[in-house]
Amino acid sequence: MLIVQKFGGTSVGDLDRISNVAARVSRTKKEGNDVIVVVSAMSGETNKLVGYAEHFSKNPAKAEMDMLLSSGERVTASLLSIALNEMGHPCVSMTGRKAGILTDNLHTKARIEEIDPRVMKSALDEGKIIVVAGFQGVNEHGDVTTLGRGGSDLSAVAIAGAIEADLCEIYTDVSGIYTTDPRIEPKAKKLDKISYDEMLELASLGAKVLQNRSVELAKKLNVNLVTRTSFSDEPGTLITKEENIMEKPVVSGIALDKNQARISLMGVADRPGIASEVFTKLANSDVNVDMIIQNKAHDGTTNIDFTVPMNDLSAAKEVVSVFLKNNDIEAESYNDKICKVSIVGVGMKSHTGVAAKAFSTLAQENININMISTSEIKLSMIIDDKYAELAVRSLHNAYELDK
Ligand code: ASP
Ligand code: MG
Repeated sequence: MLIVQKFGGTSVGDLDRISNVAARVSRTKKEGNDVIVVVSAMSGETNKLVGYAEHFSKNPAKAEMDMLLSSGERVTASLLSIALNEMGHPCVSMTGRKAGILTDNLHTKARIEEIDPRVMKSALDEGKIIVVAGFQGVNEHGDVTTLGRGGSDLSAVAIAGAIEADLCEIYTDVSGIYTTDPRIEPKAKKLDKISYDEMLELASLGAKVLQNRSVELAKKLNVNLVTRTSFSDEPGTLITKEENIMEKPVVSGIALDKNQARISLMGVADRPGIASEVFTKLANSDVNVDMIIQNKAHDGTTNIDFTVPMNDLSAAKEVVSVFLKNNDIEAESYNDKICKVSIVGVGMKSHTGVAAKAFSTLAQENININMISTSEIKLSMIIDDKYAELAVRSLHNAYELDK
């Protein structure tokens, strides 16, 4: 097999850990695989470099930041390569540029445009292990660029896609994706497999393990992604296309998002264009609206309720206050003591009664549901945040996710 193994900052956090990574890579190679390793900077290193820059300037040039920050990954890549060579493995480290990673010009948050895998391929043909410095590429002018914080996962997925690897393993300090957050429900189980779409919907469960943009890229490039821990041999969770999952559970996991706020507009004129006005203005202010509910009031006006991420609340309030003034609207209210509980599973497409079970489970616990939204594979409910943990645990139990 051709395997891409990506090791995050904690996995290469000190020299002993780099030795452990070398041992694991060596084992993978000895098992008869071709290996491309992608590494992050040692944990804390990138932040340290940012701090150095801030010593000299509040607003350093972004191209210089890329020169600076890309060095952290080079340190790890070369050290790991030296360690592997010392173990008798022919090995070569590569910068993003050498690995053929071409990006756009957006310094500090560049996008990968293309990967030219020829140099990597010929090194593999020579039997070498390759260690690529993650998080970086090169633009058309030959300047080094970086992919945004946490971007070395993206490097790994993009390389795996370009070189058509059989597997892309992302090693962190977390052992995989669980049916829900084990800190809330200790009976949460690690999932063997999950589809890309479920993973994207369960973002809050994977957030510390995988960025959504890496999962999206894996889906687009059809890369089989595994998240697992570098601290044991425990197998992780495979994230793959739905067709590769034979036994489809009705519900795969329960996600919790506490970072939600609700905005209610009361007495809004019931005429065409009004929703368009407020939501266009919110979009223009980069407010990310999630759920929306509109109800008719008795007096011929309507009420519009919607949720936004907590971080967007103050921007949303600004937009709303202008909108209220312009449209002579009665009242608004804000509630940030809410949370969103979501049930996710591809099996929901073909099973009935999944939503009904969620509602009756919450009813039994006397938890009131404020808002509901559904998609093909997800049911989300807004409830008071004081019930968040109780809701997660009772739903986890109701769908027998601990079995
Ligand atoms: N070292 C970079 C960061 O800390 C990239 C990464 O770790 O993925 O953001
Ligand atoms: Mg990272």
